Amino acid sequence: MEPRVSARRDELVANLDAVRRRIDAACADAGRDRGEVSLVVVTKFFPASDVRILADLGVTDVGENRHQEAEAKAAECADLGLRWHFIGGLQSNKAAAVASYADVVESVDRAKLVEALSRGAHTRGHEVDVLLQVGLDPPGADHRSGAAPDDVAELARRVEEAGMLRLRGLMAVAPLGEEPDDAFARLAEVHAELLRDHPGATVLSAGMSGDLEAAIRRGATHVRVGSAVLGPRPAVQ
Ligand SMILES: *Cc1c(COP(=O)(O)O)cnc(C)c1O
Repeated sequence: MEPRVSARRDELVANLDAVRRRIDAACADAGRDRGEVSLVVVTKFFPASDVRILADLGVTDVGENRHQEAEAKAAECADLGLRWHFIGGLQSNKAAAVASYADVVESVDRAKLVEALSRGAHTRGHEVDVLLQVGLDPPGADHRSGAAPDDVAELARRVEEAGMLRLRGLMAVAPLGEEPDDAFARLAEVHAELLRDHPGATVLSAGMSGDLEAAIRRGATHVRVGSAVLGPRPAVQ
C-alpha cells in the first residue's frame, strides 16, 4: 500500500475506534443495548478513497449532504455495498435524482419533496427509506431546516400515501445556543407521538461528533458522525 494511503488508514482506524468507544460508553451510561445504536459516518468533503477505507474497516452506512458530490461518490463506490444516507438540505428539483442512489433520505421536511422522491424511487424501481427532519429551533427563532413539530403528522401521512417510500422515523440537528440534551428531549417527545400512529417509524437519527452522548441518552438509534472520524472539514463549505 502507498505510504500516504497507509497513514490515512491508520488515522481512520484510530478515530473510528475512539468514536465506537464513545458510543459504547454512551449506551452503557444510558442503560441501552449497544445493538440499538448504528453509526452513520458523514463523508461529505472527503474523497471516495476515504469511503473505501471506511468500508474496509466495517462501516456500512455513510452520509452525504450535497447532491452532486453524493451522486459521484456513490457511483465511484458502487461496488462496496454501502447504505447511502442523504442528510442535506434538498431542493425539490433534485429530489428525484437523489432517490436514484440514496437508500435513506433523512432530510424530508416538506410535502413538495415527497412526490418528487416517490417519482425518483419509482424510476429506480426500488423503495427508498425516508426520515422526516424535525426543526428543533424554538418557535420564532430564525428558521433553519426541518419541519415544525406540529407539521410532522401530516408529512408522515403523505409519505405513507406516496408509493415506493417507507417512513422509517425522524432526523434532527440540535440547534445552536441550547443544550443538546434539552433539544433531543423535545425530539424524543415528537418521536413518541409519531410512533403512536406509525409504529414502524422506529428510527431516530440524532447526534453528531459533538453531541452523540446526549442523543443516545435521549433515544437516538442512529448517530451521524463526520469530523470525529474523518478530521476537520475544509473551512470553506
Ligand atoms: C455534517 C453533518 C453531520 C456531521 O457533523 P460532525 O459535527 O462533523 O460530526 C451530521 N448531520 C448533518 C445533518 C450534517 O450536515
